[in-house]
Amino acid sequence: MINYIAKKVYTTSKSFKNRIYNHFDTPVLVLAYHRVANLENDIFKNAVTPQTFFNQMKYLRDNYNILRFEDDWANKEKKSIVITFDDGYEDNYTEMLPIIEKLQIPVVVFVSTANIETESDNWDYELENIVMHGNLPINIHIHSNIINKKWEINTSIDRNNFFKEIHSILVEKGNYEYKNIIFEQIKSQVQYINPGKNINKIMNKQQLKKLSMSKYITVGTHSVNHLSLPTLTYEQQYKEITDSKNYIQKIIDKDVNLISYPFNMYNDDTLDIVKKCNFKKGAAGLPGAWHENRNNSFTIPRNSVVNEDMDKFIKRIHNYWTK
Ligand SMILES: [Zn+2]
Repeated sequence: MINYIAKKVYTTSKSFKNRIYNHFDTPVLVLAYHRVANLENDIFKNAVTPQTFFNQMKYLRDNYNILRFEDDWANKEKKSIVITFDDGYEDNYTEMLPIIEKLQIPVVVFVSTANIETESDNWDYELENIVMHGNLPINIHIHSNIINKKWEINTSIDRNNFFKEIHSILVEKGNYEYKNIIFEQIKSQVQYINPGKNINKIMNKQQLKKLSMSKYITVGTHSVNHLSLPTLTYEQQYKEITDSKNYIQKIIDKDVNLISYPFNMYNDDTLDIVKKCNFKKGAAGLPGAWHENRNNSFTIPRNSVVNEDMDKFIKRIHNYWTK
């Protein structure tokens, strides 16, 4: 309860400050998308359907100024929007690109590179496939130095809760070693792992190259392995950031100097590395609008968008300006 009140006071005062800032400094609202697809089950709430995406983009284009992520956002006269996509799913190429080209809207796509040349999913979807679609035993046990717990899986709600708990532990604490331990333990207890339908694929090299050739697209990095960067050592983070940057640069034959942090998580090491490696901007996940005199270029606030009716979307955008 105290937490709730403290949070409420914090958000109210933040919102009040934002309203004042908005008065003196026209804000930029950065939106975070992941996928444009019709998904039967969307456990991460990652996808908007192609029709919804078209409607959302058209509304934004007709009502706001749309800026490129890499632009200098100073001295704007009108409220502005920036569109970002994380992870680099294949549907960004097949579904998103035709829509933004038609509407002439600039988009930045932050790509995680580990699975560009594999048939595997990023670890989030791999976990989803194993836990949500595999044949789980009634009792599942994970024992490690971070967690030692048994779950009873009788219903789809149990399964869902187990998935969410493991996913959030991995987001918070999943460095390479810990992620491998958890995956190995789960896999060893699942009797059948569904091979999956390949609907969560990351773009391959040719798709990424073609995407990058559109004048409306800028490509940035989202690390190699899509792990939460603060779970890693300085050296590991350095490698995640520079390896992915160099890999994408080779494919698209352009400089990559924009980043978004997986799960919006970063620490002082992350910020030190991106500055040393001459990145221009970094997208984080704090909600709210961006203000010239208030926000750092390496922790740009972003706001999530979901698949919803237009009236809800319009309300959501309206609320985001003052969050
Ligand atoms: Zn991501």
